[in-house]
Amino acid sequence: MTDTIAAISTPRGTGGIAVIRISGTDAVDVADRVFVTRVKRLCETEHAHARVGNIVDSDGNTVDKCVATVFYAPHSYTGEDTVEISCHGGALVTEEVLTAVLHAGARLAEPGEFTRRAFTSGKLTLSEAESVGDLIHAATRAQLRATAGDAMSLLSRDVDAISGEIVSLLARINVKIDYPEEDLADIDRDEALDACRALSVRTKSLLSTYRTGRAVMDGVDAVICGRPNAGKSTLYNLFVGEDAAIVTPVAGTTRDTLTASVTAGRVLLRLSDTAGIRTPGDEIEAVGVERAKKSASKAELLITVHDSTVPLSSEDGEVMSLTAPVKIAVINKIDRDDAVYINEYTALARERDALPITTSLIRGRGDGGFDALVSAIEHAFTDGDIRLGHDAVVLHARQNEALASADSALERAVSALTGGMMWDIVTSDLNDALDALYTLSGKSVTDEVLGEIFGKFCVGK
Ligand code: GDP
Repeated sequence: MTDTIAAISTPRGTGGIAVIRISGTDAVDVADRVFVTRVKRLCETEHAHARVGNIVDSDGNTVDKCVATVFYAPHSYTGEDTVEISCHGGALVTEEVLTAVLHAGARLAEPGEFTRRAFTSGKLTLSEAESVGDLIHAATRAQLRATAGDAMSLLSRDVDAISGEIVSLLARINVKIDYPEEDLADIDRDEALDACRALSVRTKSLLSTYRTGRAVMDGVDAVICGRPNAGKSTLYNLFVGEDAAIVTPVAGTTRDTLTASVTAGRVLLRLSDTAGIRTPGDEIEAVGVERAKKSASKAELLITVHDSTVPLSSEDGEVMSLTAPVKIAVINKIDRDDAVYINEYTALARERDALPITTSLIRGRGDGGFDALVSAIEHAFTDGDIRLGHDAVVLHARQNEALASADSALERAVSALTGGMMWDIVTSDLNDALDALYTLSGKSVTDEVLGEIFGKFCVGK
C-alpha cells in the first residue's frame, strides 16, 4: 500500500497541454472524485484507455475539460495505479486542476518521487532511474544517445549478468563448504579461479567505459590561452557557434575570462577563454592574466593558441609549460603567406608535451583545422570504439566507485584462490563483490543515497 501522490509533470508556464500525474493505491478513486464524465467512471475504464471529462473543484465549479488516461498496476511508469490528466496548458488552469486533485485526497509528490516509486516497485533499476534524470537534463546529443531508450538498461543488464554469475559461483562453492565429504559440487580451485578472472575482466571492461561516460556526462574543464591576437576568441567563437567573445584585430581585447558549455564531438567542454598570457601592462590586463593562469591550473584540457606569423616568444613557452592532463597547441593563421614559424611552434609543442595542430581558424569549421582539433579532443577523452546507445557505459562517479570496489573484491578472490586460502575467504570476497554490484543496481542501497539521487529530479518526474 502506498499513499497517493500527485504533481504537475509538465513545465510551468503556458503551453498547449499540461499533464497532472496521480499515482498510488487510491489514484483512480482520487481522480474519480474530481473527474466527471457522462458515461463510465475512471474505475470502469480499461487499462491504458483515455476518457474525456470535466475536472470539478470542491465548490462544484468546472475547472477545465480534460482527458484522463488510466494505467493499472503494475503496468504503469511507477508500477502503481496511475491516472494522467491532460488539461489545457495554462499556468492557472494547471494549478487549479492540481489543487482539485490534492483536495480529493492526493498528496503533493516530492522531487523525483514518481521515479523513486518506479525504482521501489522494481520497474527500473537504480542506474536506469539515474538515466531518466540524465535524459531530462541532457544538453548534448551525446548525452541523449547515452541515456535514451534502451541505452538506459544497457549497464543494468551487464551488471545483472555479472551479479547472476557470482551468485551461482557462490552457490557452488557453498555446497562444497557445507558438504565437503560428498561429491555434490564438482567445482575445484582452477575452475573457480578461471571464473573469478573472467568476471574481473568483465568488470574491468565496464570500468574502462567511465572515461568516455564522464567526458560525455560530466564534461571536461578546458581553457584556451595564448598571446594576444593569436586567435583565441576566434577559436572560442567557433566552439560556441556565435560571436560570444569579441573578435578584434587589436592585441589584448579579451580582457576577462568567458566560459561556456560547448561540445567537441561527444565531449562536453566547459570552455574558458582567458586573457592572453603576457607581461601585465595595465590593471585590467593583469587581472585577466592571473585568471588565465588560475583557470589553466584547474583545467584538464589546455588549448594554447599561437600565431604562426610572429616569431616565438617567451610567452609561448610559458603557456605551453603550464601543466594539464591534456595539452593541445593550436598553431594558427597558416593561411597567411607570412606564416613562416609553423615548424618552430610545432617543435616547441612537442618539446612541451603538447599535441600540435595547425589551423586556419578564420576559415571556420571544416577544413581549417578545427575538425582536426575536435577529433584530437574526442580521442584524448573518449574511446572511439564505444557506440553510445548500443554499448553499456558507466556514466556516474557513483556507478564507477561501486564497480571499482566490485572489481577489487574479485581481484582479492583471485589472490585468495591462487594463494591457497580457505574457501571461506573466497566466498567472503565474492560476497563483497556482489554487495558492491547490488549498490550499483540499487538492490541494496541506503535511503541516503536514494535521497541524493532522486532529490536532483524535478517535482512531477
Ligand atoms: P585573440 O586576441 O587571441 O583572442 O585573437 P582573435 O581571435 O581576436 O584574433 C585576432 C585577429 O586574428 C582577428 O583579426 C582575427 O580575425 C584574426 N585571425 C584569427 N584566426 C586567423 C586565421 O586563421 N587566419 C588569419 N589570417 N587571421 C586570423
